[in-house]
Formats: sequence, structure tokens, C-alpha cells
Amino acid sequence: MSKWFYTGKAFIDGEVKKDVWIEIENERIQTIVYNDLDWEPNSGSVIAKFRNSIVIPGLIDTHVHLSHQGRPDESWALDPVTTQPGDLSLQALENAQKSLLNGVTTVRDVGSRDFADICARDVINAGLFIGSRIIAGGHAITTTAGHMDGSRYIRNNIPYDSIANMGVIADTPEEAVKAVRQCILDGSDVIKINVSYSEPVRHFNKTYAPEMTEAMLHAICDFAHLNMRKVVGHSHGGEAVDNAIEAGIDSLEHGRFYTDKQFEKMAAKGTYLTPTLSPEFRSPAKVPGRSSMSQAWLDNLRSIMYDEVQRASSIGVKISTGSDAGMPYVPHGGVAYEMEALTRAGLSNKLALLSATKLAAENVGMGDCAGDIKEGLLADLVVLRKDPIQDIKVLQDKDNIEMVIKDGHIITGFKKTKIMEK
Ligand SMILES: [Zn+2]
Repeated sequence: MSKWFYTGKAFIDGEVKKDVWIEIENERIQTIVYNDLDWEPNSGSVIAKFRNSIVIPGLIDTHVHLSHQGRPDESWALDPVTTQPGDLSLQALENAQKSLLNGVTTVRDVGSRDFADICARDVINAGLFIGSRIIAGGHAITTTAGHMDGSRYIRNNIPYDSIANMGVIADTPEEAVKAVRQCILDGSDVIKINVSYSEPVRHFNKTYAPEMTEAMLHAICDFAHLNMRKVVGHSHGGEAVDNAIEAGIDSLEHGRFYTDKQFEKMAAKGTYLTPTLSPEFRSPAKVPGRSSMSQAWLDNLRSIMYDEVQRASSIGVKISTGSDAGMPYVPHGGVAYEMEALTRAGLSNKLALLSATKLAAENVGMGDCAGDIKEGLLADLVVLRKDPIQDIKVLQDKDNIEMVIKDGHIITGFKKTKIMEK
């Protein structure tokens, strides 16, 4: 038997509709009726009425690292030699659970150590545990000395395979295709790559340099697309960004130091930008013990990042919300803070909400089954007491969440709502 619930308002296709009845049959939205105060269903069971609430699509965080904990200090640099695969998988599962309880029904992992995201995805999909739906990246493709070469953090001559990696090394187009094949074998739903790096050039007062050659970027995008995987790229500025856009990359992450011309190319190609403002937005301005290089990098990013997003948005680049959860100061489940940061960059509350629902769904390849409240889509829904279109920050308050539904299953809120009319 189908189940119905009523809310005073719903965020549907970018607009607020009033007096909304939603019917859920199995995992999907079966029927929606709105703008009719006196309408009542004559079949199925009514599970709740939320007269003063608003329902929004389940939130989607398109850039997380489930094996990372968001610890504020720099001790994470030791993780490649101190963590155990089993621990990481359980931590990834817990992070997916935290996310779901905060209204995030889908996360895209773009690099986890020891395939922790793939393990968590599989036990959630098998129905053994609840948790956000995980689109798993597994290991990301990186070059020797690249952004995700874990051996950069440890002493020389330690065998790469003996540390807890989140990267698979490739230095030529042939090795890059082999690395995509390896990711597919490992169980990756999406291919994460490192387009440009910054750390190894900071000593020279530079902000970025190409990590992958143009030929590698083409080889990866072509082969991944043949195998129905989207390609997502860590990137800062420079020629590597142009090469990645030309190669057909699907989403560029971070996006610092881009020119207007690069944003114009992205807008023309339909390339998404996931700005990941949270690590800089949520980190304290100064912290005792922070290295001078880390401080200078943080200051630099903070001084430009809102302007970058504003320029990208006004040029017409599609912005997708990704929190970079797992990085220092960014615990999992906090995509709402990323949405607040996007509004600081000039996005309206409505656009910030779209960037974490409809646009995010399109970015991760789920535009035809999630990200909106429409008949036939997956029933991923969040009922809120206060309206985020009025104040985006209400999404940060867990007490504001009345009910979370994923795949038609009520995850939280049912006991409170079953017998109550509000
Ligand atoms: Zn990241």
C-alpha cells in the first residue's frame, strides 16, 4: 500500500508550491498534488501532515572523502602509515550515516583510502546498514608526486603498496587508461583525477602547475566515458584546466585561479564547477602551530574564492555543491555550510538549494532519477520546520529536520510524526 504525507510547502523544480500531497510507492514518488487545500487522498495511508513545514529534495554532496575524518590538526598526514583498512571502512560507513541524518541522501566520494567508500557503499546497498547513497570513486588517478600520491607524506623508499593509499599512479596516456581500467575493476562508479597540483610548487611561490599532460587527460576522459563513468578533476588554474575542459571532463573541483575565459569554455561545454568552499570557509583564520606555508595558502584562497564563484556563476557555469567533507574542519554531514558559503559568493538561497539538489543530481549522473520532487523520481525527501529559502542557515540545525526519507524509506522522524498533526 502506498503512503501519503502532506506539507504546507514544497520546493519543486526551483519553485515553492503550497498545500502539497506526496504519494510514495515503494522507492519512488508516485503522485504529487498541490495548490488544493481541501484535497485528501482516497487510497493508501496518510502517515503525516506537516502544516507549517516545507519539503525539499534530499540533499546531494558531490565532493566528499568518506575515509577522512575532518580532523582540524595536520596529523592526517600520518594516516597513510597508521590507519587500518577495516577501521577506515567502518568510519566511512559512520560518515555516510551522519550525512543521511543531516538530510544528505546522496554523496559522491572522490577519493578514499583503502576503498573504504566502496565497502560502505556495498553494505548500504545490500541493506545491511542505513546511510547516504554513495557514488564511489575509490582510488583517484594521480601522477608520481601528484596531489594524491600518498608517498609524498612519508620518507623515501617506502614501497607505495605498503601504505594506505587513495591514489593510483599513472604517468603516461597508456598508464592512465590502465589506471581507469583498474578503478573500474576496483568498483569505482566515477573516475577522480588530479588535473593540476599546487603543493610541490608552493616553495617556488607558484600557486599551480599541470599535473597531467593533455594526452593523459584525453586518454582518461575518452576511456572513462566509453565505460559510462564520469570524470571529476581536482584543479586549480593554468593550462591543465584548459586541457581538461577540452578533453571533456564532467566536473572541475575547487576551481581557484581560473580566468573568465576558462569559465566561458566551461559554460559552453556544460562542465560543472564544484567550488568546495568549506575547508577555507570553516577553518579558523589563524591557528597556533599552523605552518606558515599552510597559512599563506589559506589566506590566498580566502581572498579570491568568493569572487571566483561569483564570476563563474554570472558567466553561466553550472555550480554544484560539494563540501570536501573529510578535510580539516569539514566533518561529514555539513553540506549546509557549503550552501551558506555559496550564498556569501552571491548565489541566492534558491540557487544554493538547486546547486545541492537538481544541479548536483545532474552533475553526478542522477538527473533522471533524483534531485527534485517529481512523479517517477526516487523518493529522497527532507521535511524541514523552517524554510531555507528564507534563511539558508536553518539547514545547519539538525533539530530543524522533521523527517528524512531515502528510497521511500523513512529514516528519521517517523515516531514523532506518525500520530501528530502540526
Ligand atoms: Zn577533495
